[in-house]
Amino acid sequence: MSEVVLALDIGGTNLKGAVVDTSGRVILAETIGADDATAEPLELVRALLARLAGRAEQSGHRLVGAGIVTPGIIDPETATVLYASTLRWTDVPLGSILSDDLGVPVAIGHDVRAAGLAEALFGASSGAAQSVLVAIGTGVAASILTSGTQVIGELSSAGELGHIPAFPHGEDCTCGQRGCLEVYMSGAGLARRYAALGGESLSAAQIVDRLPHDPLAARVWADGIEALAVGLKTVTMLLDPAVVVLTGGVSRAGDALLVPLRRQLSESLAWRAAPRVETSVLGTSGGRIGASVLAFRAANRAEVPEQWTAATLLSPRDLTAAGAPSLQTN
Ligand SMILES: [Zn+2]
Repeated sequence: MSEVVLALDIGGTNLKGAVVDTSGRVILAETIGADDATAEPLELVRALLARLAGRAEQSGHRLVGAGIVTPGIIDPETATVLYASTLRWTDVPLGSILSDDLGVPVAIGHDVRAAGLAEALFGASSGAAQSVLVAIGTGVAASILTSGTQVIGELSSAGELGHIPAFPHGEDCTCGQRGCLEVYMSGAGLARRYAALGGESLSAAQIVDRLPHDPLAARVWADGIEALAVGLKTVTMLLDPAVVVLTGGVSRAGDALLVPLRRQLSESLAWRAAPRVETSVLGTSGGRIGASVLAFRAANRAEVPEQWTAATLLSPRDLTAAGAPSLQTN
């Protein structure tokens, strides 16, 4: 009987569950909406995992562990979700609840840190002991690896790159501070500023599409690039990473993002070289892949993911999606 784990990536809009075998391949998958108002999010998670575990066992596989990744403030040591605003969770001992349900060890991780781990093992930062992954979606968050170890922080809150000051006297942020990076460079920030400066209501993807012929789109985008370059300069000075990997919907802008960002970062660093800045290889699959690594580690099979490569982890469809120029804001 071949061994499998469950991997669950809890997003703002959906729950992406998968059964993953020892080669890293997804053998069963189910995605459900996270915004089902009739059900408590915890019950949705438990039901989804129970269904996947049942289907895995029916098809002759043996479940050995599970990895769950979610946004919010996560304590991986105690497998507790300390706070997750989208799920309305405070101090939920998710690991022990799900471990009781499933009868296997369960790891709980932060979604962006899991994506950073996956990218460092199999993706754009593979081989680099010092790397930072920056997820630019609705907001901005970072995963930091130094000497191969993930930086989590005293309050499990390391990596809130979206709320470092890009422009100290800048526009108000929803967090209560001013001039935060994600006010200017995030899916929500780009859309809000375009509308506030007199434009119509557009998504970040639509704003990027208009760059060649819309001066307001170009202005909002240029401010966003400048804010991100300031943020990456801070990251470079503080951590000296070999590579910075950009992921999330806004990173799909590709060269419209990379070319001016690399130039500004290089020009702003007077006395040292800039780290490499790349877009992610694993794309939206990063969270799920990181969750399956955490699951095999929790199951005392840390050697299993060491055999994996991006080519085996991603289906041809995933690879196309990761390289596609289209842009989504989540
Ligand atoms: Zn803020």
